[in-house]
Amino acid sequence: MPIRQSQRCDLVKQSDIRSMTLACAAVDGINLAQGVCDLDVPEPVLHGAEQAMRQGKNVYTRFDGLPEFRQAIARHQRRFQGLDLDPESNIVVSVGATGAFQATCAAMFDPGDEILLFEPFYGYHVNTLRSMDLTPTFVSLRQPDWSFTDDDLDAAASPKLRGVVLNTPLNPCGKVFTQEELERVARFCRKHDLMLLSDEIYEHFVYDGHRHISPATLPGMEERVVSISGVSKVFAVTGWRLGWAVCHSRWHEPIGHFNDLYYVCPPAPLQMGAANGLDQLGDDYYQELAEDHRRKRDRFCLALTRAGLKPHVPDGAYYALARIDHLPGRDSHERAMHLLRETGVACVPGRAFWNDPLGQGLARFCFAKRWPELEEACRRLEHFA
Ligand code: PLP
Repeated sequence: MPIRQSQRCDLVKQSDIRSMTLACAAVDGINLAQGVCDLDVPEPVLHGAEQAMRQGKNVYTRFDGLPEFRQAIARHQRRFQGLDLDPESNIVVSVGATGAFQATCAAMFDPGDEILLFEPFYGYHVNTLRSMDLTPTFVSLRQPDWSFTDDDLDAAASPKLRGVVLNTPLNPCGKVFTQEELERVARFCRKHDLMLLSDEIYEHFVYDGHRHISPATLPGMEERVVSISGVSKVFAVTGWRLGWAVCHSRWHEPIGHFNDLYYVCPPAPLQMGAANGLDQLGDDYYQELAEDHRRKRDRFCLALTRAGLKPHVPDGAYYALARIDHLPGRDSHERAMHLLRETGVACVPGRAFWNDPLGQGLARFCFAKRWPELEEACRRLEHFA
């Protein structure tokens, strides 16, 4: 008799991001598949963590995180979104935005509930929902401007629908939801009594005058919105696993409870490092970071154009979608593998972000690399043309 595995193993697809990363390592290529922000970690972040280790901040923290970190997050949310939060009852610190998302879903939804996502989507959101026996449903954004209407939302309403997952700026296409669009989603949530989970991990990566708006700032949404974010991207510490959920006080205990159950707490001294960074880094840090990524976006999209891989130029986040449907292969995965073989540059096939094996003929490239590596990727793609 074969040993059984859970049925969930079949529901939860293997991440193309991981498989392309492995394929890239096998050919010693340039990995533009994974969304690692490859930069130096800011000094106050390193210093804060190191000092905390030496000062004995090395034990379990409270179920919702260290007070110093929650206070720093509250100050950060006030500074960038004008939100007035109580660090004691509105913030749960978790193991990355990923952990915050999982704990929030566990606290809010029951097996069989439907949860609406915008397509293209971040695959981890979909897989997390499936792993919890929740049913993802989709509203497809229209290219080239990734638009949607009230009718699109209404068509997705159903008696089983309990929540909406929104990611702004949106991985993989870089859409930055406008105030008007967020209000449309908020109206829909109020009308159908839905929760809104807002993943804002790319909040500091917005370009060309676009502005990140947190749905938590919308009137009448206080109890319905949980905003999720973290420092993985903005402090280039994806391996530290530090994120948070910002929520109404009624959700603090339930989310905190699952967070405690799943993870106990993220590493205590690293929480102190992140707190130090949030408190000490000035507006110039965030502005320079966004400007550096804007320049990388422009350079990389130029290379994609020269390579004949027509890009969608993103307004936010640090990914570019580009056309690969003219490359040999039966689906987006085979085409992405062809590009990797020919250029040594790894991307993620569009099927990872759409319910469509052809992935709309697109692939996602991450341009958050150090300049020399990005230049080399550009050179290889331009040569490929
Ligand atoms: N949310 C989105 C939309 C992402 O793209 C990513 C990483 O790529 C994450 C969350 C993961 O964030 P964290 O490292 O904080 O878990």
